[in-house]
Amino acid sequence: MGYKCSRCKRIVEIDYQYSGIRCPYCGHRILLKERPVIVKRVKAE
Ligand SMILES: [Zn+2]
Repeated sequence: MGYKCSRCKRIVEIDYQYSGIRCPYCGHRILLKERPVIVKRVKAE
């Protein structure tokens, strides 16, 4: 599952064998869950 760092906005892959969640790039500890983008298609008829 992907997370997004709230500071540097990088996508972080969390490995759960580590006890803490932390951005490996900047060390920030607040990561936002990155949801898969669901595109709704609306047919224009
Ligand atoms: Zn970061």
